Amino acid sequence: MKLYNLKDHSEQVSFAQAVQQGLGKGQGLFFPSELPKFSASEIGALLKLDFVTRSAKILSAFIGNEISDDDMQRLVKNAFQFPAPVKSVEDDIGTLELFHGPTLAFKDFGGRFMAQALVQVAADKKITILTATSGDTGAAVAHAFYHLPNIRVVILYPQGKISPLQEKLFCTLGDNIHTIAIKSDFDTCQALVKKSFDDSELKAKIGLNSANSINISRLLAQICYYFEAFAQLAPKQREQLVISVPSGNFGDLTAGLLAKTMGLPIKRFIAATNANDTVPRYLETGKWEPHQTVATLSNAMDVSQPNNWPRIEEIYHREAWTLKSLGRGTVTDEQSEAAVRELDQKGYLSEPHGAIAYRVLRDQLQADEYGLFLGTAHPAKFKEVVENILGKSIALPAELAERADMTLLSHVMDNDFAHLRDYLMNLEW
Ligand SMILES: *Cc1c(COP(=O)(O)O)cnc(C)c1O
Repeated sequence: MKLYNLKDHSEQVSFAQAVQQGLGKGQGLFFPSELPKFSASEIGALLKLDFVTRSAKILSAFIGNEISDDDMQRLVKNAFQFPAPVKSVEDDIGTLELFHGPTLAFKDFGGRFMAQALVQVAADKKITILTATSGDTGAAVAHAFYHLPNIRVVILYPQGKISPLQEKLFCTLGDNIHTIAIKSDFDTCQALVKKSFDDSELKAKIGLNSANSINISRLLAQICYYFEAFAQLAPKQREQLVISVPSGNFGDLTAGLLAKTMGLPIKRFIAATNANDTVPRYLETGKWEPHQTVATLSNAMDVSQPNNWPRIEEIYHREAWTLKSLGRGTVTDEQSEAAVRELDQKGYLSEPHGAIAYRVLRDQLQADEYGLFLGTAHPAKFKEVVENILGKSIALPAELAERADMTLLSHVMDNDFAHLRDYLMNLEW
């Protein structure tokens, strides 16, 4: 597989390099040189396969002979050990539940495949994963790499801006997982990570690697569950399929669009955001004007400068699609609370992230269309919020209940790069 840096097309790398480097020069994102295409009959054949076998074929179509078919099958089997079921919510709307993995959020898919791919391509090199999280990436990455040899993980997150349970889920592990609460917001955490990657001395000394949604292996893995969703739909539902994606860093939407470039016949996508609405405003006005990030109930989407946006622009450019055709919608906290209640009345328990995608989908779905919204997190992951909205209690799944009483092991740090650098340089293996 060949990939190029979106900021400098002359920088070309293999899949192995892209997975290990994360970002290219000048913090540029890597993007595939070839976008593999399947014919309608090839798609039909793929849809008949089981999730793991089909996903291995999709990933091999991108990655090629850098990973053998047998190895790919093994990696995907290790990574995707849980289902992605479509549940019916209304006659014309279903939800793709992506939260049945160990950390109860969709980021388990990308995080676990990335961990598998990295161990595969890096052989015996020592690696430090540095990543910023607005909530869920951290847990997914931590669990994906926990106890893996020659790899350690350092996770930055905005102190007090993720849910207490989210924090427990990845800040209580110890061993090769190190967590740092930064006294600022997610964009600051992300900026500290980017700065670290620009520091070549630091990078070389600790074998820096990123594992947030900018890593191409995560995005490729996420393509697979769009096929899995489609495979579960009835013929009529497949005809005019609209998919609504609750978006923060826009990794999930990028993966969905890549599924479409491969030939999966999705009629259109909707980018649903919370009050951090840089993209919907950009699509309206043509002006890229990020505001200060604001805290919302859907905190994993509190991102005002979405990292993956350049990849989405590149897809539209490469496929000669018009950006105006991308659906969009912005949902306030009040509206997302109301949507959680509305879904509960229809007998479906949700949480604010998925509910945002539902709201925009319900408002924009047309007659004869079938809509799917992505269920990105388990309702219990946002227990306090959901209980407040619905006025009833929600059971904690075993994964969370176990961790709720454990001690947090995080360091607390100011927004200070010199301090972070010092910490990283002196971290013991
Ligand atoms: C990360 C996350 C999102 C946003 O996904 P992006 O790929 O960053 O757009 C939405 N919902 C939940 C629950 C998340 O954890």
